[in-house]
Amino acid sequence: MNSPIYLDYNATAPVRPEAIEAVTTAMKQTGNPSSIHTYGRSARRLVEDARAEIASLMGTKPARIVFTSGGTEANNLALRGAERSRVLISSIEHDSVLQVHEGAIRIPVDTHGRIDLNALEDLLSVDPENTLVSVMMANNETGVLQPVKEIVSLAHAKGALVHCDAVQAAGKTDINCEELNMDFTTISSHKMGGPQGAGALILGKGLEIKSQQLGGGQERRRRGGTENVPGIAGFGVAARLSREGLAEIQEKSYLRDAMEQKMLAAAPGARVFGAEVERVPNTTTITMPGVPSDTQLMVLDLEGYAVSSGSACSSGKVQTSHVLKAMGADEKTAGEAIRISTGWASTDTDLDQFADAWIALFKRKGERPD
Ligand code: PLP
Repeated sequence: MNSPIYLDYNATAPVRPEAIEAVTTAMKQTGNPSSIHTYGRSARRLVEDARAEIASLMGTKPARIVFTSGGTEANNLALRGAERSRVLISSIEHDSVLQVHEGAIRIPVDTHGRIDLNALEDLLSVDPENTLVSVMMANNETGVLQPVKEIVSLAHAKGALVHCDAVQAAGKTDINCEELNMDFTTISSHKMGGPQGAGALILGKGLEIKSQQLGGGQERRRRGGTENVPGIAGFGVAARLSREGLAEIQEKSYLRDAMEQKMLAAAPGARVFGAEVERVPNTTTITMPGVPSDTQLMVLDLEGYAVSSGSACSSGKVQTSHVLKAMGADEKTAGEAIRISTGWASTDTDLDQFADAWIALFKRKGERPD
């Protein structure tokens, strides 16, 4: 059997061949970037070249980029290292934001999954100068984009800082950190076709962060520990290719839209989450009425499609997606949703073929309204 068609880029993207080459080349090279001899300097060059590529993708200056072990660490670094005692987070954040501060206050979202700006404004009226707001740019399950510019201006007007988890937005939508003016921005290599285990926190102009990894002065004392040189080298290449491929990913959103229309037309009662608002071009979360998401995943996997569900499986227990619930979905609806996400190696026919398999499954097992 051929390998299943991979439609789970939001979990992790296949590593781009050029990134694999950069990682392998870097691994064959000896050198700690902190050493001053020739070997050290050439390792340093790999790190700094990658930093420049990432700065160019994100519209920022290289010196503001702090390399980390991934998105999770960058989110933790921002939420802890900003040293603000009051933390406001949206109710649809990734666990690596949700679980950092037990006392974080939740900002609600509407049925489209966009944060309620009035609620944010009210929350910002209390102790804003000790407040950090953390809102993701694009949601990992629905792809819904947040009004980051408005969020930043509301927060800054009151003296609060803003962290933005842009892990699922980088390489899928144009981001200019300088213009958007976030104070801290998180990105991750493996979501854009780089290796796993590399990421970055981008600091806003003039901002600093308290290092959470002590014991080394690396990354301008913002993150101790020898840099993951091969991972960073691959990350840099993935960032360059993501920048170069941005226009194409955006143009191809018509393929996603066509797939959704075909599925919705064939399955009365199906719902695409966030369909009415702006989303990144690669993500769909759709329900199949009457068919639990784990059944869909298993059948579709057997038929040659790798997709995922919003439900997270932790400690052996499947939990309903907190994102879909926050958007007003009931348990049953949220439990019938699957996520389809594409990326750099997807072909023009993947989604149309997938839609046919999904529709055939609905016809066999789905529930029609009376
Ligand atoms: N933030 C979001 C929105 C994500 O989707 C993910 C990964 O799924 C992360 C953070 C964590 O990134 P990493 O896997 O690099 O730790």
